[in-house]
Amino acid sequence: MSLFTAVEMAPRDPILGLNEQFNADANPHKVNLGVGVYYDDDGKLPLLQCVQQAEKQMMEAPKARGYLPIDGIAAYDSAVKSLVFGAESEPVKSGRVATVQALGGTGGLKIGADFLKRINPGAKVLISDPSWENHRALFSQAGFAVETYPYYDAARRGIDFEGMLAGLEAAPEGTVVVLHACCHNPTGYDISPEQWDKVIETVKAHKLVPFLDLAYQGFGYGIAEDGAVVGKFVASGQNFFVSTSFSKSFSLYGERVGALSVVCQDKEEAARVLSQLKIMIRTNYSNPPIHGAMVVALVLNTPELRTLWEKELGDMRLRIKQMRTALVEKLKGAGVKEDMGFITQQIGMFSYSGLTKDQMVRLRNEFGVYGTDTGRMCVAALNSKNIDYVCASIAKV
Ligand code: PLP
Repeated sequence: MSLFTAVEMAPRDPILGLNEQFNADANPHKVNLGVGVYYDDDGKLPLLQCVQQAEKQMMEAPKARGYLPIDGIAAYDSAVKSLVFGAESEPVKSGRVATVQALGGTGGLKIGADFLKRINPGAKVLISDPSWENHRALFSQAGFAVETYPYYDAARRGIDFEGMLAGLEAAPEGTVVVLHACCHNPTGYDISPEQWDKVIETVKAHKLVPFLDLAYQGFGYGIAEDGAVVGKFVASGQNFFVSTSFSKSFSLYGERVGALSVVCQDKEEAARVLSQLKIMIRTNYSNPPIHGAMVVALVLNTPELRTLWEKELGDMRLRIKQMRTALVEKLKGAGVKEDMGFITQQIGMFSYSGLTKDQMVRLRNEFGVYGTDTGRMCVAALNSKNIDYVCASIAKV
């Protein structure tokens, strides 16, 4: 008899489980489209030039590693505010945004979730149906009942926008609504600017609490375009949360660089909120790590590095778009009868391919092409060498 006798085996993380299966697969043509990671045309994880140059500068002036402040590097937090809200924006200038450095976008979401649980313990959380799997797990773990609002409509190959609005309208006051600011994961379908206006109106009218997940800024239409919805929320005069991730946009997955920003009524309120966010951090991991945030701060705050980053991010975005176009053409060329043009209407790293679970299992087992059972494929893992094989395999299933 041990203290842990009754501890059950937790289910495997679906994506990580897929990776393990991929690594064990002996098929020489295997392709992993299950991941949520951008690879370059050689199938490699990029190490951005802007990151290398920032690291070189840091190495040339090495610094001792004392503890950071609980809320992180000040220059980093202010760079995040400038990027997400605009340096000259009213909420930043008036000091009513509380921003803390976080362990990736996930860390930003969790600090926000823990804080929300303290100020409104009875609230429930709504996530999109479907959503990034960790949204449900993370908010549940923070103690919330998590439900969904309609989002993807398989029959329509798009968004069930009426359903989405109705779902929000039916939510009780105080409900936390998690919204993908851009590049919806897993479907690749974003709502239009006009639809955002309606969502914002509804969320405000029903006194819901918007929580924007901004994990793919720059992967859709551009840095400003992808962040535009933040400005719309500011203009609506609501309090809201934004989690930021630099995992993808800086290809710094393992450095865990992200942030949480909370837009408050005024500066005094922001100070109180910040003090509470700091308690969440202090009691979990005390204070954040230095390296990744230092790199990002240096890049964002140095004009030449910033320009280089925008160029490199633009190249990633463009390559994904080219893969989408190529996918549609090559699927047609491989004999797929159905019009797959919808793939180019999707945006960001992922595509809901419309393939069934059976087809995805066959792709995996017979061809070594790995995507999730829901039909999600990471377009950012396609390249000029594997795309023909992927298209031929899809055509066969
Ligand atoms: N939010 C969404 C929608 C994501 O897809 C991801 C990563 O896949 C994250 C948040 C978390 O990002 P990070 O790796 O920075 O924690």
